Amino acid sequence: MTPEKAITIQSVEELVCKNQFGTFFGVPQDVFDRVWNNLCGPDGNSVVYISMEIGADPDTFHPVLDFLLENDFTTSGDDQTRHFINKYLHGPRKIPNYSGGLGVLAGDTLKSFADLQIPVLAVSLLYREGYFSQIVDFNVGQIDQATHWSPEQTPTLFLLRDPDEPEKPLEIPVPFYNEYDQPTMARAQVWMKLEAGEELDYFVPEFLLDYAVPSSPPWVQEAAKRLYNAKSTIMKANQRRLLGSGILPLMERLGFTARTLHLNEQHGVAVTLHLILRELEQRLGPDYHQKMSDSDILAAADQVAKRLVYTIHTPVKAGHDRFSRELYAGISHSTCQRILDLLARDEQSPNEYNFTAMAMRVNRAVNSVSRLHRDVTRRQFPDFADKITAITNGVHHLTWISEERARVFDAQPGLEDWRDDPGCFAKAALENDSGFRNNLARAWKRDNQTLVDHINTMLAEHRIQMTTTWIDPPNYLSYLHEEGVLQPGVFTIGFARRFSTYKRANLIFDDLSTLVDILIKGRYRINFVFAGKAHPQDEPGKTVLKVILDNQKDLFIRSQGLARLVFIPGYDMHVAKMMVSGVHAWLNNPKRPLEASGTSGMKAAMNGVPNISVMDGWWVEGYHGGATGWKFGHEGPIDEQSLSESPDALLYREDSLAFYRLLPEILDMFYNRPDEYLDRAIQNLKRNVPIFNTHRMAAEYVKKYNLRLTDETANRIDHFAKLYHSDPENG
Ligand SMILES: *Cc1c(COP(=O)(O)O)cnc(C)c1O
Repeated sequence: MTPEKAITIQSVEELVCKNQFGTFFGVPQDVFDRVWNNLCGPDGNSVVYISMEIGADPDTFHPVLDFLLENDFTTSGDDQTRHFINKYLHGPRKIPNYSGGLGVLAGDTLKSFADLQIPVLAVSLLYREGYFSQIVDFNVGQIDQATHWSPEQTPTLFLLRDPDEPEKPLEIPVPFYNEYDQPTMARAQVWMKLEAGEELDYFVPEFLLDYAVPSSPPWVQEAAKRLYNAKSTIMKANQRRLLGSGILPLMERLGFTARTLHLNEQHGVAVTLHLILRELEQRLGPDYHQKMSDSDILAAADQVAKRLVYTIHTPVKAGHDRFSRELYAGISHSTCQRILDLLARDEQSPNEYNFTAMAMRVNRAVNSVSRLHRDVTRRQFPDFADKITAITNGVHHLTWISEERARVFDAQPGLEDWRDDPGCFAKAALENDSGFRNNLARAWKRDNQTLVDHINTMLAEHRIQMTTTWIDPPNYLSYLHEEGVLQPGVFTIGFARRFSTYKRANLIFDDLSTLVDILIKGRYRINFVFAGKAHPQDEPGKTVLKVILDNQKDLFIRSQGLARLVFIPGYDMHVAKMMVSGVHAWLNNPKRPLEASGTSGMKAAMNGVPNISVMDGWWVEGYHGGATGWKFGHEGPIDEQSLSESPDALLYREDSLAFYRLLPEILDMFYNRPDEYLDRAIQNLKRNVPIFNTHRMAAEYVKKYNLRLTDETANRIDHFAKLYHSDPENG
């Protein structure tokens, strides 16, 4: 498969591009025009991807910065270009506009769309206070703080200008209603992120609506500041409206015509409501409010459904928005409520609007995020079972494969094309290539060293911080000085994800005696590296985090220092990348089947790191009979009991014992049969990289978008879609 011929960029000034909304940097003008004009085409041959969060930190993937450095473009005679270059070289590398898996998946997906040249634009919100910054104190546990960041300084973000008054930022008026059915106007400035493909020959624009501007009413500004702010239910409901109600005004103002809208989870489903209102107006005229009947509404919804693709991401209740009808009566127009009465009704809970139910009803395709999750979703929404299919998640291989590993792949015969085609690992003869085996092992060792160095530096910094601030270091090892440092080459297990109770972060510490016995008996040294945030309102999640901290000292002392448990505060994409490439095994132990997919384990697999996981989410598909890692724990049927999130139904005892039964075998292989351990790594590259990448996933989605593509793009999509069929029966 030959990729498009690379574009040639002679000078750095060519990366400056502009239109009536401003001057940008990152792709040549002709690329910019081609993409933008495509999105404005009269036939609507494009897609709007709608997500509450987008995680795409420029410190983990940065094609424009790479381009500057590779070509030694570090300055320019042109003032404007120099300004952009300086931002890229020295600007902040974080866009803290995500909380976890949903956002990172969105970012990875959009990067693959850019690499594959699919006409997509994305819409999300800009949160001036991010999600939250996590401080961890040994005695207190997690402490939440507002994140302070500056979109103005962030190299990949551009504030759109008003074409009529270019010295001013563009403001999009977004109409809302109050409880008297009177219109009030919110306003949003618009930030654009250019999500450039690896070759800078395409990009996906991401538009982040920033409602925290003085011209918006105070309640709007308040609801806009912080991602998933759930201080009050009304604020939460309003934040969802800011996303869903801003989409059509944004598209109209910028001239975008996309026919298809993809809801990445139901948070933005208010857009459906607005599409239905427009459809009704078109059918019945301007006084449709008075005229419309229930059957008019349903007919309009059927029409709108043809434009919508919906991905559901979790079976867990907290992931699905329900708001009381009473609350909605206070914030929305009575016409909207009539539509919600029909489409967001919930038989089990008649006093609430259920927005997942609405997203389920009005669409042309519902996708779950793994095969097992499809079965779970069908059980949870039996009325829609027929249309629920699986498109298993993936991760963007170029983002998550470490630089050390990438260098090995670059040099390996048979993998020349791996950056364009993650499918090439399947066919490459890697198992018996001793050169490759050595190189991979060496790269792994270096990534492990990087992680260990990072942790040891952190432990020392926390020790200093103890004397200069009121914060007690989150790690017991900080108190131990030299005796507490981690050593490279010690078997290291990584675990990092949101601290939700169903993910059971403390599972393997459920019975410390059993764990310690295993280690002492074999004289096995082991490191456990943990990270993750609990939602500020999730007290049980915070308690689990605190339990991890509380176990550190006991584990160290009772194991005579063989076991060291470290917590890295402030989990983000950078920490994730260092962990998934620097550990020797990735641990995943949610209560099956509550983890719809899980993606951090895929990031590990991209680096050849085996998973130790319960049979949940993607691992059912990635386990390959044990060739790529290990499974443990309960594998019962999907029923009432297994779907229960109640604390006494989380199967701690059963699943932790299963882990302890498995652990000695893994330790023995790692320390005594390293070649066999390396085989697991190579099987991950061969079997899992070709499947669990977002190029393949994006290709499966593109098949649902009904886009008209150039022959070349269509061929590439066919190629990637053939790498794997997430849902063989319902392809
Ligand atoms: C990948 C990632 C996640 C999601 O991990 P899961 O295994 O799906 O829970 C969350 N946060 C960050 C920072 C990530 O990089």
